[in-house]
Amino acid sequence: MCRHLGYLGPPVSVAELLLDPPHSLLRQSWAPVDMRGGGTVNADGFGVGWYPQGQDIPLRYRRAVPMWTDTNLPGLARSARATGVVGAVRSATVGMPVVETACAPFTDGEWLFSHNGKVAGWPDALAGPATALPVTDLLTLDAPTDSAVLWALLRRRLRAGEDPARAVAGLVAEVADAAPGSRLNLLLTNGRVLVGTAAGHALSVLRTADAVLVSSEPCDDDPRWRAVPDGHLVVAGVSGEPSITALPVRGDHI
Ligand code: GLN
Repeated sequence: MCRHLGYLGPPVSVAELLLDPPHSLLRQSWAPVDMRGGGTVNADGFGVGWYPQGQDIPLRYRRAVPMWTDTNLPGLARSARATGVVGAVRSATVGMPVVETACAPFTDGEWLFSHNGKVAGWPDALAGPATALPVTDLLTLDAPTDSAVLWALLRRRLRAGEDPARAVAGLVAEVADAAPGSRLNLLLTNGRVLVGTAAGHALSVLRTADAVLVSSEPCDDDPRWRAVPDGHLVVAGVSGEPSITALPVRGDHI
């Protein structure tokens, strides 16, 4: 299953986050250590979105090739400096297309979004009224995948002005109810707040003196990495302790 990582803090190069750490996202693309629910490598594409300093709208780069095969990435990642980053490597769920537009992060205005997991009973489980999408949203989906539908559902909540943490928790509860047994590790940021869920997959958080990282797997052996318990929501800003609270879903529903 895919791996993802979010960062908020002082400007760093994308390479310092994605490529350089001993257990970087690059390494996790071919040697992840905590893949729950199937999959051995994350070779079906990757993506990175980043906020250059002082810029509210992120830039994004996605490819449908294994991260380690993209010869353009090292130079691009070395020159891109950012105060917020979301990176993702993909292991496509069986039956879902291997295309660039299926790779996270998904974006809309200031937002970047990633999903690690799968919607159980896809796509029938989402046909009910709570998770149905208007045709305009369906026609503008990035890809025919569960992650793209989750993003369309979350985007509706954000466009309606819902608080990001509430929107993420609300979406997880709604989808867990419609599709019990789903794995719903979500990651959302607008460059100022980082919201993540541990719902069926691994997730860890690192708070340093001036930055915060939320990652599927710890990227290094810093003793300050904390595992987020399953069924929990993380909300982190550039400063302050990240809050970790239980998601409002019944345990057997994720
Ligand atoms: N189901 C999603 C996809 O196919 C995410 C896959 C994953 O987390 N491995 O893109």
